[in-house]
Amino acid sequence: MGSIDPADLQGYQVKQEWHSKPTYLRVIAAGAGATGLCLAYKMKEKFKFENYDLVCYEKNSGVGGTWFENRYPGCACDIPAHAYTYSFEPNPDWSTFYAYGPEIRQYFEGFAKKHDLLPYVKLNSRITRAVWDEQQGIYKVDIIRDGQRIQDWCHVLVNGTGFLNDWKWPKIPGLADFKGTLMHTANWDTSVDYTNKRVAVIGTGSSAIQTVPQVQKAAQHLTAFMRSVTWISPPVGGEVLQVEKQKAEDSQGKAQSVAAQYYYTEEEKKKFREDPQHHLKYRQGLEGAANMLFDMFIADSETSKNAEVLMRQEMNRRIGEGHEELKAKLIPSWPPGCKSPISNTTNNFNPPGRRITPGDGYLEALVQPNVTTVHQEIERINETGVLDASGVQHDIDILICATGFNLAFTPPFEVLGRNSLSMHDFFTNHPYGGPQMYLATTIPHFPNFFVVNGVRGNWASGTALPSIEICCEYILRCCAKIQSDHLKSLEVKQEPITQLYEHIDAWHEGSVWNAPCKSWYKNNIVGGKLWIWAGSALHFLKTMKGEPRFEHYEIEYKERNMWSFLGNGRVKTEVLKGTEGYATGQELLEKLCPYLRNEDCDFEVE
Ligand SMILES: Cc1cc2nc3c(=O)[nH]c(=O)nc-3n(C[C@H](O)[C@H](O)[C@H](O)COP(=O)(O)OP(=O)(O)OC[C@H]3O[C@@H](n4cnc5c(N)ncnc54)[C@H](O)[C@@H]3O)c2cc1C
Repeated sequence: MGSIDPADLQGYQVKQEWHSKPTYLRVIAAGAGATGLCLAYKMKEKFKFENYDLVCYEKNSGVGGTWFENRYPGCACDIPAHAYTYSFEPNPDWSTFYAYGPEIRQYFEGFAKKHDLLPYVKLNSRITRAVWDEQQGIYKVDIIRDGQRIQDWCHVLVNGTGFLNDWKWPKIPGLADFKGTLMHTANWDTSVDYTNKRVAVIGTGSSAIQTVPQVQKAAQHLTAFMRSVTWISPPVGGEVLQVEKQKAEDSQGKAQSVAAQYYYTEEEKKKFREDPQHHLKYRQGLEGAANMLFDMFIADSETSKNAEVLMRQEMNRRIGEGHEELKAKLIPSWPPGCKSPISNTTNNFNPPGRRITPGDGYLEALVQPNVTTVHQEIERINETGVLDASGVQHDIDILICATGFNLAFTPPFEVLGRNSLSMHDFFTNHPYGGPQMYLATTIPHFPNFFVVNGVRGNWASGTALPSIEICCEYILRCCAKIQSDHLKSLEVKQEPITQLYEHIDAWHEGSVWNAPCKSWYKNNIVGGKLWIWAGSALHFLKTMKGEPRFEHYEIEYKERNMWSFLGNGRVKTEVLKGTEGYATGQELLEKLCPYLRNEDCDFEVE
């Protein structure tokens, strides 16, 4: 914040406008997945911003992000569908207990249509570069739109590109030599028919767990390359699921056949639609169960020990008698949470991530006669298939890599901040050894740049959407301050991050994620730093909620005098009363003396 030389205190003129009249704010968001749409909705409907423009540039030809892109067979939410909605936008019409990808995509598309958000979205538009212009206090943004390079600008840039959007091929020698059909789960080609084909799936992460049972049913033979051991958990919300299944069995006299899935009846959906309180209680039961799981991630806690016993029993039961080798090779020997073992391999296939996958039919599929499980390293891939480390060649027609994503530490586009500092260089060269992100949201040297639930955000606990929502609200509170206090820039200081990181590192010493394992929470580095929040989902929400701690930010004003936003000594109501379209009658009276009330509740002066 600059100071004024007393000799300079002349020529100041009061602005002829009301107190805190919002300055024009242009916001660009990268992405129109759950995050971009949430931001657009909250800006318009919850915070009711005025005098602003928002453009969500989206590289795909449709909205929905993860759920637009992931079309592999069996792609589904691995937490109960009724817990995977925006917290304020329930969906009474979910068909199944765990919603499948296409229905989730429909949910987000329906949300965008219902709230008229599509005018804020520009499709087929990939942001390639953003550069901070110090003088103007804006980012200049390059975009490739329908193949053409265009430019735009904004006061505030929000990165809503998610942290699981950059899918990756495994680093296995010879991958390019394969002459059959090569696929990645996150880039699925729906025209490929695997019926009666020899198929291999590489990976034991969530996508593999969902794909394998589907492919196994149709393929002539399935080879599952499963280098890593993995926990398959009982379903999140499993108790509620069991109640649902029992109800169905009682009423229909037969069991619903799918192991960990339930199909809602029309009557249940009607009740959810017509009785929102009943629906809310049902959602609370599921969300509460997901939040209760957190105790499991505290090292040596009773819950962690019990979870291990339970999961071990359940995996043994589901694999069944006579598959002792598979049990020995698949069931981990350490507590659930830190999911993949130390490995000295350079192949980077699918260290399982945050998702606790109910694994509907996965273990059952692995023991079918048309399945071979391979627990060796892969030596190399060749023209006809895969050669494993024991020298066995597996000839196949289709190779499916369920090998996950590059963790997004930096945005998928170049960002230059103050003094042309590159975000990539700043993170790479920082002595701490990695990204510097304040509350998963803001970054020193990159004013007015925000990330939604970024590095060290809540990636590991509960469901993603409440954390996305709270981050959007945090960002919009910053935007509101930029507008009302007439700020040029808001830039987080380094010290609050340094101290936050000290706290996070110390906290993780007692978390199960800290075990000497390899996971994407540690950017796949055994013994690496944990890039996730130090606490539960609720703990993250409590930290992010409410007024941002602006004392952690450097503030620069647009005008020389920091009080210029005080304007002409009047508030909006005093200026606009009597003008067309403004409040009249009782509404106006209330605005003229908002502090008069019957109890000591909060009030606002407009
Ligand atoms: C297979 C799968 C299953 C999952 N299941 C669950 C689950 O059960 N529960 C849960 O809580 N979470 C789950 N997740 C996490 C999920 O990603 C989040 O719940 C949520 O969808 C993230 O939304 P987002 O908008 O932040 O990111 P995304 O959905 O990834 O959207 C990012 C958007 O940014 C766009 N984009 C990227 N780069 C650019 C660019 N340069 N310019 C313009 N646009 C760009 C992308 O096209 C995309 O549309 C799952 C993730 C995957 C991959």
